[in-house]
Amino acid sequence: MGYEPRTQAIYQITHRKPIPVPPPESLEDIWAADVFSLSKMQACLPKGVFKSLKKTIVSDAKLDPSVADIVASAMKDWAISKGALYYAHVFYPMTNATAEKHDGFISVQNDGTVISEFSGKTLIKGEPDGSSFPNGGIRSTFEARGYTAWDVTSPAYVMETDNGVTLCIPTVFVSWTGEALDKKIPLLRSIGAMNESATKVLKLLGNEDVARVNSSCGAEQEYFLVDAAFANSRPDLLLAGRTLFGKTPAKGQQFDDHYFGAIPERVQVFMQEVERRMYRLGIPAKTRHNEVAPGQFEIAPYFESADAATDHQQLTMTILRNTAKKHGFACLLHEKPFAGINGSGKHVNWSVSNATQGNLLDPGDTPHDNIQFLTFCGAVIRGVHKYGPLLRAVIATASNDHRLGANEAPPAIMSVYLGSQLEDVYEQIQKGAIIGSQPGGIMDLGVETLPTFMKDSGDRNRTSPFAFTGNRFEFRAVGSHQSVAGPLIAMNTILADSLDWIANKLESELSAGTELNTAIFAILKEIMDEHGAVVFGGDGYSADWHKTAVEERGLPNLPTTADALPVLTEGYIEELFDKTGVLSPRELESRFEVYSEQYILSIEVEAKLVIDIAKTKIYPAAVAYLSNLSTTIASLKESGIDFDTEILNKVASLTSSMMGATSKLGIALEKEDFSSMKEHMQYSAKTIRPLMDEVREYADGLEGEIADDLWPLPKYQEMLFIK
Ligand code: ADP
Ligand code: MG
Repeated sequence: MGYEPRTQAIYQITHRKPIPVPPPESLEDIWAADVFSLSKMQACLPKGVFKSLKKTIVSDAKLDPSVADIVASAMKDWAISKGALYYAHVFYPMTNATAEKHDGFISVQNDGTVISEFSGKTLIKGEPDGSSFPNGGIRSTFEARGYTAWDVTSPAYVMETDNGVTLCIPTVFVSWTGEALDKKIPLLRSIGAMNESATKVLKLLGNEDVARVNSSCGAEQEYFLVDAAFANSRPDLLLAGRTLFGKTPAKGQQFDDHYFGAIPERVQVFMQEVERRMYRLGIPAKTRHNEVAPGQFEIAPYFESADAATDHQQLTMTILRNTAKKHGFACLLHEKPFAGINGSGKHVNWSVSNATQGNLLDPGDTPHDNIQFLTFCGAVIRGVHKYGPLLRAVIATASNDHRLGANEAPPAIMSVYLGSQLEDVYEQIQKGAIIGSQPGGIMDLGVETLPTFMKDSGDRNRTSPFAFTGNRFEFRAVGSHQSVAGPLIAMNTILADSLDWIANKLESELSAGTELNTAIFAILKEIMDEHGAVVFGGDGYSADWHKTAVEERGLPNLPTTADALPVLTEGYIEELFDKTGVLSPRELESRFEVYSEQYILSIEVEAKLVIDIAKTKIYPAAVAYLSNLSTTIASLKESGIDFDTEILNKVASLTSSMMGATSKLGIALEKEDFSSMKEHMQYSAKTIRPLMDEVREYADGLEGEIADDLWPLPKYQEMLFIK
C-alpha cells in the first residue's frame, strides 16, 4: 500500500461522480435577477425618491439622506423575497480581498417578539473594526473606528451560497479621521480627476457638448483548476496558493496542445455554473477558453465602466473560488502555482470614453488626422514614461514576482507598444511632417471559398507590458489574484496628470493666437521628444531589450517587489496623487506600509511552510526509502551479491543537503532587527527567497530518486493532468 493521502486522493478523483448539469435557463430569465437594479428600484420606489436616487447615481449629486429609509425598506423587502435573512456591507480593504460584515435583519421588540428591520441609517453606514484590517498605521487598535459607507453608484445584490442568501451592499471603507482605508475611494477619486482634465482638453479641442468622461475596464482572468483532493493533501497549495516543491514533469506544456483545446467536460460544467451565477449578478461574462498551461483557463467579461468592472471583477474571483469548491476543484488564482509552467495574469483592458465623444482611444481609419485620439494617446505615452515605476509598483506582489520577466509574462520594465501604424504616425509627428497613415490592407487567404477581410492596422505584441490593442490599452503585467483597482487608479491618475499638463499648454498657446492643429502637433512633438523612449515594438522577452531599455533608453528595471514598492515613497509620486486629489500623502504612505508588510509576510509564511514540509513530509519519505534500500543491499551482500550503492549514496547526500539548507533557512528567518521596511523587503528578496529555492532544489532532486509509492505530495503530472 502506498502513501495514504496521495494515493487516496488519486482514488477519490478517478472515482468521482459527475456533477449533474442543471437544465439550461435563458439569459433573459436570469440576467441580473439577483441585483437590486435601477429598474427594480423604479418599480418599487415612490417616484420622487427614485428620481433623487437616480440623480445621485447618474450625475454624482449628493445623496439626500431623507430617501435612505424608504430605499432601505424597499431593499429589505426585495432581499427577503429572495430568501435573505442577513445583510452585509461589502468593501474592498487594501489587501486584494473582498471583506464583508454580516448582520441580521432581526430586531427584538419589547414584548420579546421579533420583526425584520433595516433602516436608512444601517443602509448608509456600517461600523466594522477599523483596526482589524491592514491600515498602515492610520488606525491603531485603541482608535479603532472605521466606517463603511453605502456606495450608491454600485447596485446592491443578493449572494446565494449553499449556506443561505445574503443581501450585499457595496460600500466604501473610511477611518474615523476620514482617510480612505480601501481601494474603492481612490478609484472613484481617480475617475473624478481624469474626468476633470479630460473635459478641459475636450473643450479646448472645440467640443461644446462634453458628457462626463469615465474609464472602462475589461479584465481577462486566468486561473488554474486542480482537483480539491490533490489541493487538500498539499499544505503549500492550501496555505500559500502555490506549490513550494515539485519536480518538472516529463510532459508539461511543451506540446502547446492545451491552448484553445477542447474544454474538458467536468471543467465545462463548472464554467457554465460560474457563468450562470455571474449572469444572475449582472456580470457580462463573454469568453472562456483553455489557456497555455495544462489545467489553466481564462474567463473574460464584456467591458464595463471602471467602477462597476472593479466590483464585478472581485465578485468573479469569489464566484470562481466558491463554485470550484462545489465541483470538487480548487481554483488557484496565484500568479505562479507551478514552477516551470506558465503563470496566470489578469490583462486589464482600459480605455476612456463618454456619451458625447465616444471612445477617446479609438483612432479610426486615419489616425494621423484624428487630433482627439492623438492627444489622448499622447497623454498615455507621456504618463507611462513619466510614471512607469508607479505602474510597476501597483502590480508588485510577492506572487507576481515569480511571473514578471519569466519569459511568459511581460518584463518588469515598463514600455508601450503602439503597433506599426501608430508608431509610424508618432514618428512623423516627431519629425514635424505628417503625411498619412499606413493602411491595414486586405487579408487574402488564397482560397476562393474563404472570405477576404480587412486586417487590423497593427499586429499584437504579447511581450509588451502595456500594449495598444486597437481601441484601448491592455495592461498585461497585472497579476491574476490582484484587485484591478490599483492598476486602474494608477492609469486614471497618470492620464489625469498628462491631460492637465496638455490642457495648460494648449490654453496658453491658443490664447497667444496659435492655430489649434499647430498647437497640438507642437505639444505632441514635445511629448515624443521627452517621452518617446518608452515606445517599443520589439520583443520584450529578449535579453537585448533588457540591456538597451536600461542602458540606452534609461527605462528603469525594477525586478522585484522589494525594488518596486519604495517608488510609492518618492516625492514625485506623492505630488502626483496629492495634486490630483486621489490620495493624500498620509493615505499613500499607509498604502506603502500595508503592501510592504504583505510582501514580507507572504514570503515568511512560505518560508515556514518550506521548512515544515521538508522536515515532516519529505525527510521521513527519504529516510524510509534509505532504510528500505540499505536493508535490501545488506541482505544481498549476505547472500554474496555485490549491489551498486550509487542511488543509496545519492539519496543520502540529497537528504542531508536538504536538511542543511532547511536549517540555514530557519536561522535566517530569526533575524528581526531591520532599520526599515525597505531593508526588510530586500532581505526577504535577496536572502530568504534564495534559501527557499535551495531547499526546493534538493527536495525536487529527491522526488526524482525516491520510490513513487513513498512520495508524500501529489506530483505535478497528477495535479495537471488527472481531471
Ligand atoms: P484578447 O485575449 O485577444 O486580449 P479578449 O477578447 O479575451 O481578448 O479580451 C478583451 C477584453 O477587452 C474583453 O474583456 C473586452 O470586453 C475588453 N475591451 C474591449 N473594448 C474595451 C474598451 N473600450 N475598454 C475596456 N475594455 C475593452
Ligand atoms: Mg489579452
